[in-house]
Amino acid sequence: MAQNGESVENQAGRHQEVGHKSLLQSDALYQYILETSVYPKEPESMKELREITAKHPWNIMTTSADEGQFLNMLLKLINAKNTMEIGVYTGYSLLATALALPDDGKILAMDINRDNYELGLPVIEKAGVAHKIDFKEGPALPVLDQMIEEGKYHGTFDFIFVDADKDNYINYHKRLIDLVKVGGVIGYDNTLWNGSVVAPPDAPMRKYVRYYRDFVLELNKALAADPRIEICQLPVGDGITLCRRIS
Ligand code: SAM
Ligand code: CA
Repeated sequence: MAQNGESVENQAGRHQEVGHKSLLQSDALYQYILETSVYPKEPESMKELREITAKHPWNIMTTSADEGQFLNMLLKLINAKNTMEIGVYTGYSLLATALALPDDGKILAMDINRDNYELGLPVIEKAGVAHKIDFKEGPALPVLDQMIEEGKYHGTFDFIFVDADKDNYINYHKRLIDLVKVGGVIGYDNTLWNGSVVAPPDAPMRKYVRYYRDFVLELNKALAADPRIEICQLPVGDGITLCRRIS
């Protein structure tokens, strides 16, 4: 047995590199979750989109299947109807959302890249939920500013999922706190940033992980200090912080 009571074998099974997809300390445990609880319940359309996305060169960006399952469940639990997503990529979290909303539900979805969304779009259409999606190509921030200026969108969103440029999360938060309704939820994704939030400065880290780390650290502190929200940090996927607006 090693010093901390863990067998040497178990320690060897731990991820050695900061930047692993799952935050769980054991690949076997993560695989167990996927195979036992996630894949058997995954809708056929989400499986199809996951498999298409797996072949794409930027597939590291996709929402994991367990997080997709979580989002789908959360949206049903809060009876979400009007939602927003910033950062679509091929649309796995978008499809998880679209499947959870009622038939007259709406998702304002934004991404600077339409091509990746179009990779997933045929699957979303086949699933019969494309009519819920209003996709806007371009940076999200100006769209949010426009909505704030127009005034009629204040307090109208039940749920907002933020999964795009991490260096803008604080700027998104300043606007989204007005757009989400009191009692509604904003989910900020990747808030444990590959575990790098607790990594020593000299830890091996991919360049992009190191670059965005300070922004994520700053966001996490700001959310914890914001009196307008209650928060819950979940170690699902790469960490998601749920913020419930209370005032
Ligand atoms: N939620 C997606 C999923 O389930 O597959 C993953 C999103 S991926 C991590 C981040 C996305 O944010 C990319 O597709 C990227 O094009 C988009 N993005 C980057 N900067 C953006 C911006 N300023 N406004 C909107 N989208 C942006
Ligand atoms: Ca993400």
